Amino acid sequence: MMPKRDVIAAVATAPGRGGIGVIRISGPDLAPFVAALAGRNAPPRQAVLATFRDAQDKPIDQGLLLYFPGPASFTGEDVIELHGHGGPVVMQLLLSRCLDLGARLAEPGEFTRRAFENGKLDLAQAEAVADLIDASTASAARSAVRSLQGDFSREIHVLNDELIELRALTEATLDFPEEEIDFLEAANAFPRLDALSERLTAIFAKARQGKLLQGGLHVVLVGQPNVGKSSLLNALAGDELAIVTPIAGTTRDVVRGTLQIEGIPLHVVDTAGLRETEDQVEQIGIARTWKAVEEADVVLLLTDAQHGITAAENAILARLPAHAIRLTVENKVDLTGQPAGLVTDPTGRCVRLSAKTGAGIAELRQELLDIAGWHPQEDVFIARERHLRALDEARQHVQLARQQAQLLPPPLELFAEELRLAQHALNTITGEFTADDLLGEIFGRFCIGK
Ligand code: GDP
Ligand code: ZN
Repeated sequence: MMPKRDVIAAVATAPGRGGIGVIRISGPDLAPFVAALAGRNAPPRQAVLATFRDAQDKPIDQGLLLYFPGPASFTGEDVIELHGHGGPVVMQLLLSRCLDLGARLAEPGEFTRRAFENGKLDLAQAEAVADLIDASTASAARSAVRSLQGDFSREIHVLNDELIELRALTEATLDFPEEEIDFLEAANAFPRLDALSERLTAIFAKARQGKLLQGGLHVVLVGQPNVGKSSLLNALAGDELAIVTPIAGTTRDVVRGTLQIEGIPLHVVDTAGLRETEDQVEQIGIARTWKAVEEADVVLLLTDAQHGITAAENAILARLPAHAIRLTVENKVDLTGQPAGLVTDPTGRCVRLSAKTGAGIAELRQELLDIAGWHPQEDVFIARERHLRALDEARQHVQLARQQAQLLPPPLELFAEELRLAQHALNTITGEFTADDLLGEIFGRFCIGK
């Protein structure tokens, strides 16, 4: 039984000014809210034009009210959407009115959490809601929708059903120990376990691609002024959407931004912004840049092919995380006459190119995709690190089960236990057994109103 719920409300649209702003309300019985807000009853799932009034009956705004009685709603409870004019003051007044009527402010992700707890979405789907909103490329958005529609969860359910069947057969045999050896043969256990392992490996590979689409590749760009950092970023972005999330830097240049290569988000931090300063706002920006540097997957060291690496670059290189892959790029080969392309030398890999002519850019893009581990693939669903860990854990338990089954005589209790653990790991993905603190962690990362 779910505990009795209170009424939650939040502004569901992004902060700022817009043509329309939406307030979302969810709770067990919102009929009184409908009456108070619209001044009349509202038919289910039909837009009603209404004047929203405050407690003194003074109009706050005029807009649309939509009433979704539970359980046929996003959260599974009664849901109201108020579509008003999208100004921050109007939204605050409407929200205050909801709070006066007895609602409380929703916590981040609380609407989606209720949807999960009421069985409208499983956990992988709920996470996909956040990933869809956060998607930084069209490919990431498409794969998030696939997860949201249940593609990932369905793959997990197929494996889960197979595990349940094997477990049921095993449990039945445990009551008749004399049949143990025959059981494994009769149940076709070995081929089935092998098929399970294979399936898990395939899904893991796909989920890994999905995680790449979700998280992208974190690239740090190191290089002196005028070596061609801005030119390189533009050349890399090519005719794909250039910089989709520019974050205005403290210098003339964009210090951080996201571009994409074949749909993989490339989060680029330009260390040109890393300089000594007294300005406090600038210092905050610089601290953020350093934090991004510490999370780097790849360090792109950009040099002018006509010169070498300087002390300033070496100082930044010294602070880079050890796990980051270092890739040297020599720009402006059009001026030196060197051939463009990938060069492997004892100190590592290097791409020679010209941001100006475009020679060598394709090689750099391919090198970055290789570093990321990207294999072009259709129907990728979005996934996260915790999904990868769970899939890996499930695969290990299936393999352990197979090892138990090979012993003579096979210890069927241990065999069954491994299958149970494999199933448990899979269920953490869809959320059948998920600790409360993990749920808090997952939904806490949502924005308010989702
Ligand atoms: P940043 O300061 O590192 O961002 O460098 P910019 O991208 O602003 O480039 C500095 C100068 O170098 C500009 O005049 C560019 O046109 C020039 N430049 C950049 N890449 C190349 C290149 O590959 N070849 C040549 N010849 N000039 C380049
Ligand atoms: Zn620049």
